[in-house]
Order: sequence, then structure tokens, then C-alpha cells
Amino acid sequence: MSVSFPDLLDPRKAVAQRSVFEGEMALARLPRLSKLLWRGEESTAPISSNASHAVHYRFEFGRDVDGHSIVRGQVAAELPVCCQRCFERYDLVVETVVNLALAEGIDEAKALPAQYEPLLLEDRLMRASDLIEDELILAVPAIPRHPEGACEPPPLPSTVAPLVGDEGAGPALGADRERGADRPRHPFATLAVLKTQRDDTDNQD
Ligand SMILES: [Zn+2]
Repeated sequence: MSVSFPDLLDPRKAVAQRSVFEGEMALARLPRLSKLLWRGEESTAPISSNASHAVHYRFEFGRDVDGHSIVRGQVAAELPVCCQRCFERYDLVVETVVNLALAEGIDEAKALPAQYEPLLLEDRLMRASDLIEDELILAVPAIPRHPEGACEPPPLPSTVAPLVGDEGAGPALGADRERGADRPRHPFATLAVLKTQRDDTDNQD
């Protein structure tokens, strides 16, 4: 049988009792993680107002065959992050596997088998949400981005005024400039010459 995490957890007791904790936790309860997440148009509303933004977790406490006090589990969430390529929001799907062993100090942590991450015990009680939050913080990349090819950087802001009158300056300035390179510098000069010649002809009448 499983229950939700209490606010404060006694990890040694949980190991002794082979406790299983399973449930959901609102992202708003994870303030260190929230700093890494999207704070765009939703900044006035708490992230937890979106029902999909809850963390699903399951943690099993117990001992392995060698007697180590261990915690196994999973943490799954969709984290709203800001893509650093297009600067739009997207939901980062995170599914992590937890494989911890309790350690009473640095020496004990160093002596653990390689498959375990140490869970250093400082006090008798710990905040259960820290177990979830630490996993999720590790799962958020330093530079979150949509998958390659899934988005484009936003167009650069136009700092150059359109060249009105020059080849009907459109937004594709770069392309126009390239095509314009082998054209007369003053495309209307030829027209002006033609007009002058016609005017002269008219005057002769
Ligand atoms: Zn993107």
C-alpha cells in the first residue's frame, strides 16, 4: 500500500518500515525548481493553476541484498520551460529513475556501490519534497531547447529603415541587396534619360 509523502519524512524509519510513497505534487511547492521554469505570460498566475503541471512520483524505501538502506523510485513531470532558440514556451517531458542509498556521512557515501547516488542524512527528518525537487532540477538542461529542427530563432528586429523607392523595398532586404549588387546604382537614371529625350522630341513639334 502506498500513501502520499508527508511534509517531513524520517528516511531511516521509512527504510525500516519499507514505506512506499506515491502521489502528485504541485510544481508550486518546488520553489528552487520554479526558478528554472517558464515565467512568461503566466507570471501573474501560479504555475500550479494548470492541472497538467503536477509531478507524479513513487518512492520505495527498503534494503538491498547487501543491507544498504536504499530508495528506489520514479519522478515524472511536464515542466514548462523557455526554449533558448525561439524563446517560446514548451513542456519538457521528464521521467527520471531514482536510485539512492542512505549515507550517514561523506565516508559512507564514498563507500557506496556505484549504482547508488548517496542521500546524505543530516537530521532525523528531511523535507520529502526535496527528494522530488532535486531529481527534477538535475533533469532540466542548462539551455533548454526544442528538439533540433522543431523551431526557428525569431527574426532579428529590423533596425534598418526600409529603403523606400529603391526596388520597392520589401522585408527581404538581404535578398534584394544581393540581387541589386550587379544593377545600376540609380535604377531610375535610365528612365530619366529616356524622358528627357522624349521631352526634347515634343518640344521640336
Ligand atoms: Zn524553440
